[in-house]
Amino acid sequence: MVGLVTFLLVAPTTRASARAEPEGSGADFDVADPALVPVAVALTSSNVEALEVEARVRRERAGMVCPVRGPIWFYDDYGNPRSGGRDHAGNDLMSAHGEPVVAVVDGAVDFKSGSRQGRGAYLRGVDGNEYWYFHLSEYEGEPRNVRQGDVIGYAGDTGNAGGTHTHFEIHPLWDPYEVVNPYPRVDLVCTDRLPMH
Ligand SMILES: [Zn+2]
Repeated sequence: MVGLVTFLLVAPTTRASARAEPEGSGADFDVADPALVPVAVALTSSNVEALEVEARVRRERAGMVCPVRGPIWFYDDYGNPRSGGRDHAGNDLMSAHGEPVVAVVDGAVDFKSGSRQGRGAYLRGVDGNEYWYFHLSEYEGEPRNVRQGDVIGYAGDTGNAGGTHTHFEIHPLWDPYEVVNPYPRVDLVCTDRLPMH
């Protein structure tokens, strides 16, 4: 936590200097301005180094990269009620159809299809977690060892999916019956994020 907090305290300096001109010209500094929210989008392309530092800090904090490459939108829907008295065991990451789905950590990926998950990818991570991705439109390659960031499939709506999204679950200890809310980690690393719509 300390690392990220330190970074976020330091980072606004860059933004403040980038915005010094409008402030100096008398424009109000609106705290509700999305440009001031401390996420990657607030850092301009002229500050690539700061962007890369922030991305690395977020990856290290979360221990993973974002499961879907490309703009996505999502909220904390873990535990929401589902049909048959079940609870939602993951987060639904909405995206355009066909966006690349990637290995969030190094590990071994396997594929299994079914009526509920559609095309499902199962990543047994070297970090001791298993990561499940459901409703893929296509798989990429064969079951194999993968590196963090390798493409393993593409977002779709196969199986029991109401619209294109990647259902994402985290199972500690490679235990299918152990499950944790992915949201804090996904929220940290998925910075190419659109508002819910
Ligand atoms: Zn889901």
